[in-house]
Amino acid sequence: SMGVDDFANWMRDAAGVLHENAAYLTELDAAIGDADHGSNMDRGFAAVVAVLDESSFESVDELMKKAGMTLVSKVGGASGPLYGTFFLRFGAALAGAEITPATVGEALKAGVGGILARGKAELGDKTMYDAWAPALEAYDSAVAGGADVGGALTAAAEAAAKGRDATTPLVARKGRASYLGERSAGHQDPGATSTTLLLESAARTLA
Ligand code: ADP
Ligand code: MG
Ligand code: MG
Repeated sequence: SMGVDDFANWMRDAAGVLHENAAYLTELDAAIGDADHGSNMDRGFAAVVAVLDESSFESVDELMKKAGMTLVSKVGGASGPLYGTFFLRFGAALAGAEITPATVGEALKAGVGGILARGKAELGDKTMYDAWAPALEAYDSAVAGGADVGGALTAAAEAAAKGRDATTPLVARKGRASYLGERSAGHQDPGATSTTLLLESAARTLA
């Protein structure tokens, strides 16, 4: 069954993908923000990998909570506390739990609950939540249809990609992009883009 090594692989794979996409994420953020989303994510996940290299973890919940704390402390700006809280709550929700499609779904929901508690975003505000919300729905329907964790994450990643694409015409109502008002329309949200990369990575590694 799935365990610490699988989740460590997720974090390592995500770090690689975020590194490869750092320039792209920063370019998206240059259009409607302050041109640092790629470097923020790259720095944060490199720090998570450094922690994985130094420590060993007994349980998935310890590993993910540590990842969350690392992101909160190493990444400034909006995305550090938001993703950090996601992983903290994701890990906490899995404490003492067996890894099943249902418990991973509950953990994803708890993590996204943390993003909402911190950021107060609503659907359509042109944020990472616009990728997370459809991802949660797709994950649950896939599990209801009998999918395993990998299958449900694949469905979630596909839904996140659609949510990411749908941010382009929107006017931002949260975060730095909201300072641009109407001029934020016509650009894809950087955070919805990194969320999709994280879920695609999860679908690859937690299969
Ligand atoms: P900063 O804007 O502080 O420079 P980043 O560039 O790393 O931070 O992250 C920007 C991303 O954070 C946005 O593209 C958006 O998806 C996300 N974001 C910003 N504010 C919020 C919020 N209140 N709720 C959810 N996501 C948010
Ligand atoms: Mg930024
Ligand atoms: Mg910034």
